[in-house]
Amino acid sequence: MDRSALAYNHAFTLCITIALAFALALSSCGRAPSSSEALAAADPTQGNPAPNELRTETRDGLLGTIVTISAYSDSDSAFSDCFGAIADVDRRMTANAADSEIAAVNAVAGKKAAEVSDDTHRLLLLARDIYEQSGGAFDVSIGSVSSLWKEDGKFARLPERSEIEAKLPLVSQGGIVLSEGNTVRIDKAGAMLDLGGIAKGYACDLVLERLKEHGVSGAFIDLGGNIYAHGRKPGGKKWRVGIRYPEIGDDAVACVLNVSDRAVVTSGGYERYIERGGATYHHILDPKTGYPAESGLRSVTIVAASSTLADALSTACFVLGLEGGKQLLEKYPECEAIFITDDNTLYTTDGLGGQVEITDSRIKLG
Ligand code: ADP
Ligand code: MG
Repeated sequence: MDRSALAYNHAFTLCITIALAFALALSSCGRAPSSSEALAAADPTQGNPAPNELRTETRDGLLGTIVTISAYSDSDSAFSDCFGAIADVDRRMTANAADSEIAAVNAVAGKKAAEVSDDTHRLLLLARDIYEQSGGAFDVSIGSVSSLWKEDGKFARLPERSEIEAKLPLVSQGGIVLSEGNTVRIDKAGAMLDLGGIAKGYACDLVLERLKEHGVSGAFIDLGGNIYAHGRKPGGKKWRVGIRYPEIGDDAVACVLNVSDRAVVTSGGYERYIERGGATYHHILDPKTGYPAESGLRSVTIVAASSTLADALSTACFVLGLEGGKQLLEKYPECEAIFITDDNTLYTTDGLGGQVEITDSRIKLG
């Protein structure tokens, strides 16, 4: 199924990808599975033949989402190395499998430290930094609460308030002790790590590294809404990335930006959600309440050279809201953002001024 293609055909003549950052968990709401759908097909309307064909491969299920890599490359090993790198991150960092590094740390919480790989340790250090900079809006120790909202690893359950209240005191990045020798210790028994807000971004950066190692000079990576536009298309054109209209069940494109060598990562309340008793609950949680963040934003998109950073900051900004998010981004001058508020007003950080094309008349420029 490729609903994004409809938007593409109507609206654009260039390649475009719709940042549809929702995945299999959506099926819990009765919707068909979907994910970021790369539409970066070679443009038949362009007369100039590309130096290479754009080849697209998709895998479903890695890091709980659908991954699509489109690259100007005919190297089988380039693609298999990329998917292998994502599978490796999934294996080590998922909280959902009993044998991952993160599960091993969680299993001995309150008792002892566990050793993790260099990568996981470094990622946890970065997560701690973003926790500090964001005043706790981004907190990978959310696991004890986020797991209450999940069934079989998918966002699919509405917990009782009493369950959330019981677990909330365990959400405390301060209780995660990172020591030399790549050890991680969780102070409180029952506290848990959840890298769901940063692991896809990290995997995306690894894919980029692999592509560069294989000499690929143009590619479009999409890990469930974590987009990376690498290099340029044949003829030197930048990639066009569409940001989805941020409403459940509406696949229109809110705006488009032209980018090269940039991660474009969106967090939105329409991505993974459940409906219960007429109310909708999405999967980005406010660590202070344990409930879905209600900050006046419908989506936040971060544009940055690092996908890892963009992933964590998009989650943090979504929790913080427009003003708090802008303040946070002042500490990250290399990152730009597009905020869409509950009343459909679009704001950008100064560095994106004029680069965002609004493509849906329901969206106003703030
Ligand atoms: P997506 O995974 O859909 O791209 P995000 O990057 O915003 O969306 O990450 C949301 C995921 O991160 C949740 O599914 C959960 O695993 C975890 N998470 C939820 N709230 C937070 C938070 N405040 N800080 C860190 N991680 C969070
Ligand atoms: Mg994120």
